[in-house]
Amino acid sequence: MNTRYFSAYYLTSAPSIRAAPEDEGAEVAFAGRSNAGKSRAINAITNQNRLAKTSKTPGRTQHLVFFAVDERIRLVDLPGYGFARVPEKTKQQWQTMMDEYLSHRRSLRGLLLIMDIRHPLKEFDQQMLAWCEQSGLPVHVLLTKADKLKPGVVKQQLHKVREQLRRHYPGASVQAFSALNKTGVEEAHQVLDKLLRERPATP
Ligand code: GDP
Repeated sequence: MNTRYFSAYYLTSAPSIRAAPEDEGAEVAFAGRSNAGKSRAINAITNQNRLAKTSKTPGRTQHLVFFAVDERIRLVDLPGYGFARVPEKTKQQWQTMMDEYLSHRRSLRGLLLIMDIRHPLKEFDQQMLAWCEQSGLPVHVLLTKADKLKPGVVKQQLHKVREQLRRHYPGASVQAFSALNKTGVEEAHQVLDKLLRERPATP
């Protein structure tokens, strides 16, 4: 078990990349539709109960939340949104902010995309994957809430998603995860280690 992520602490919350911490060192961002299980995944990975907080207020200004692992490394909680309740204007603001962040953040090394294993590859996820594909940003999918399915079904879902990624988003990797019983935490740590070690594609 890699304990370096256990010392993560809250750094700051920013409404846009202009208010973000200095763009140096390396960071990995977490994204997911609201309720996918992103906050609990971040908390499981950092072995903390309340580091990432769930926000249940649709339509409010959405922020990028930065956590520091050490003085060089950060984890970033990106805003997601939910189902039909989100107004078009919020969706557009979200798109502008994500586009800005994903295309201009030089210290960004990769994305962990969180999906509920029972409902993977929704429109939100496809959009995130397409963005990463376009900008050459490595992406790793966590199929979370795996504890909700029987092991055989977890395997099937994993296989299905892996096949779809291979076809449409080659380069993206995927694993099963559960914040409840901590399945896949070690694998996620290894992926983070690898992403954070690698040099960016363009200097
Ligand atoms: P977020 O909106 O993506 O940050 O989602 P949360 O992390 O707040 O999780 C949404 C809901 O799913 C909450 O009720 C969580 O308790 C539940 N949840 C999240 N991860 C898991 C998991 O691994 N297993 C189970 N059984 N429930 C989970």
